[in-house]
Amino acid sequence: MESKYLKVKCKCGNEQTVFSHTTQIVNCSSCNEPLAHPSGGVAIIHGDIVEELGGFRYLNFQIRTNLLLQL
Ligand SMILES: [Zn+2]
Repeated sequence: MESKYLKVKCKCGNEQTVFSHTTQIVNCSSCNEPLAHPSGGVAIIHGDIVEELGGFRYLNFQIRTNLLLQL
């Protein structure tokens, strides 16, 4: 999967842009809950991806994210 930026909505309602292949834990700027964890490839996203900023593989990414979340 290509690298891209994702707009992730935290459970607190805050929306934040997260790099899809981040190598650092990304915390919500509002409530400080983790929004993304690095996984060596596509980051594990916590929260809803409300928008994809570049790229066309949203569905595929969402499926992969769900698989990662189930591990
Ligand atoms: Zn939050």
